[in-house]
Amino acid sequence: MQNQRTRLGIDLGGTKIEIVALDPAGAERLRRRVPTPQGDYAAILSALVALVADAEHELGLAPGAASIGIGTPGSISRATGLLRGANSVCLNGQPIVQDLERALGRRVRITNDANCFALSEASDGAGQGAAVVFGVILGTGVGGGIVVDGRVLDGPNAIAGEWGHNPLPWPRDDERPGHPCFCGRMGCIETWLSGPGFERDHLRVTGEPACARDIVARAAIGDAGCEATLARYEERLARALAHVIDILDPDVIVLGGGMSNIERLYRSVPALWGPWVFSDRVDTRLVRNVHGDSSGVRGAAWLGATAG
Ligand SMILES: [Zn+2]
Repeated sequence: MQNQRTRLGIDLGGTKIEIVALDPAGAERLRRRVPTPQGDYAAILSALVALVADAEHELGLAPGAASIGIGTPGSISRATGLLRGANSVCLNGQPIVQDLERALGRRVRITNDANCFALSEASDGAGQGAAVVFGVILGTGVGGGIVVDGRVLDGPNAIAGEWGHNPLPWPRDDERPGHPCFCGRMGCIETWLSGPGFERDHLRVTGEPACARDIVARAAIGDAGCEATLARYEERLARALAHVIDILDPDVIVLGGGMSNIERLYRSVPALWGPWVFSDRVDTRLVRNVHGDSSGVRGAAWLGATAG
C-alpha cells in the first residue's frame, strides 16, 4: 500500500541538504543535514543517493522501500523535464528527476519549496482538514503554493500559486510604479511584502534604517513611525490576499517565513481585507504555520507519498 510506506522528504537548498523520514502516521523517525556540494551536479546526485541509502539502512528498511519527495527552489519544466530557477545554478538544465529515479530505482517527486510548505501545512499543520489551502512564504522573498484535497496544484506551467511577482493590487498613487524587482518588472508584491521590502518601506518613509524585527518590536511599544510602517504592511497584505481570495477562494491561508511571526497579522489582516474581496462576507481563515522551518522538508515527504 502506497500510504503505508515510510516517507523520505529532502529539502535541497543552496547551502544544505536536509532529509527527514516520516512514518505513515506522519511522525518523524529520522532527520539528517549535510552541506550541499558546491557547483558540482554529479556530487549533489551522489549526496542525495547516499542520504536516502543511509536513511533506509538506519531505519531497517529494504533499499527502495520508502517513497521520496524533494523540495527545492526552482521547478521542473513540463516542456523539457529539466530543472530551472534553482539557486544552486549547476542544477539548472539538468534532468535531476530522471537521474535520481534511475539511481534510486523508484519514482521521485519534486516541487518548489513554497509548494512543500503549503502541502506540509495542509497535510498535518495549520490547514489540516481544509479542502483548499493557500500557503504563503513571507521571507526574503514572497512565494505561494496551492493544495487542493491534499494534492499540490502544479499547473501546466508549474507556477500555480506563484503570487509574489504579480503586481501589488489596487496601488495607491504613491505606490506607483513601485520598486524594481529582480524579475525585471516594477512593483511586484514581493518588493512590498518580503522582509527586505518591509524594511525598505520603513526607510523610504522615515529615512531611518531598521531591521524588521526592531520595527515590529518598536511598534508594539508605541513608536509612531514603526507603527505606521507595520500598518502599511498589513493593509498591503490585506489587498494582496484579497486578490487571491477573489481568484482561488481558499478555506485557509497559512503564512510562513520570517514575517509570519508577527502575531497581530492574524487579527489585523482579516479585519482589513473585507472591502477588497468581491463578497459580502469572507470566511477564509488566516493562520500561522505549525511546522515553521520544518515545513519544507516535511512537505517534501508528503509529496513523495503521492507518487504513483
Ligand atoms: Zn518580480
